[in-house]
Amino acid sequence: MGTVRLGELSWPEVRDLVARDPVGVIPVGAFEQHGPHLPLMVDAHLCETVALAAAAQAADRGTAVAVTPVVWTGYSPHHRDFPGTVTLDDKVFSALVGQVAQSLWATGLRRILILNGHGGNAHLLRNLTQTLHYDHGLRVHAASYWDFALPFLAEWRKSPIGGINHACEMETALMAATRPDLVRMELAADHYLDRPRWFGADLLSGGPVTGAASFAELSPVGVIGAPTLATPERGAELIEAMTNAVAEFLVALAAMPAPASPDAQETPQ
Ligand SMILES: [Zn+2]
Repeated sequence: MGTVRLGELSWPEVRDLVARDPVGVIPVGAFEQHGPHLPLMVDAHLCETVALAAAAQAADRGTAVAVTPVVWTGYSPHHRDFPGTVTLDDKVFSALVGQVAQSLWATGLRRILILNGHGGNAHLLRNLTQTLHYDHGLRVHAASYWDFALPFLAEWRKSPIGGINHACEMETALMAATRPDLVRMELAADHYLDRPRWFGADLLSGGPVTGAASFAELSPVGVIGAPTLATPERGAELIEAMTNAVAEFLVALAAMPAPASPDAQETPQ
């Protein structure tokens, strides 16, 4: 089985791939602080790692698939009080990811997954799938990589609610498994949010009320969750579960009936 990295193909190879009605994956990350113990590139690295591993597994199962390079910066104004954060505004972010998707579509890819690695991007990507469809006739899917493995994550965790949020038990374990050279466990410290129950505190338990808040207001060191519970071994288990779950979706997406052509799309009610 050849490469699953789109950037490693020549144009005739892409033409041949398109003839197989492939799945295209666009990993989308962020460039922002992850506490004193993790680097800025966590979200970009983790979603690209899961995307490539899942694509390789799907390819081994006979699925035609190609992954674009990761979109390394995202929507992170809530982290800009910390040094190093690089953020796009919402319009530029949506235009950038949207034009990557439109380029794949123009090349002939009709099964596109935007695989997100940053919570702050999620609402914009949900919205983008709608505008790409209703304004441009594209059918594009978006999901955050952890959402494919929520039942596993719920069993896997050792922290109480509040322990999986940002630079947390989950992200620290995934980094310890994949880039141990960049994890400084001696600097990791847990931080649980203390705020009224209406506001979400955990990836697996959101509150009903949302609103903007700078991370600097919520956590002095930029961590929300329980990074001290992370180990490389538990991170490896988790990344395997996430990879399997995403691969299963890629295989299923390739087998779904061909999307309707743009002129045959249904109109919203
Ligand atoms: Zn992150």
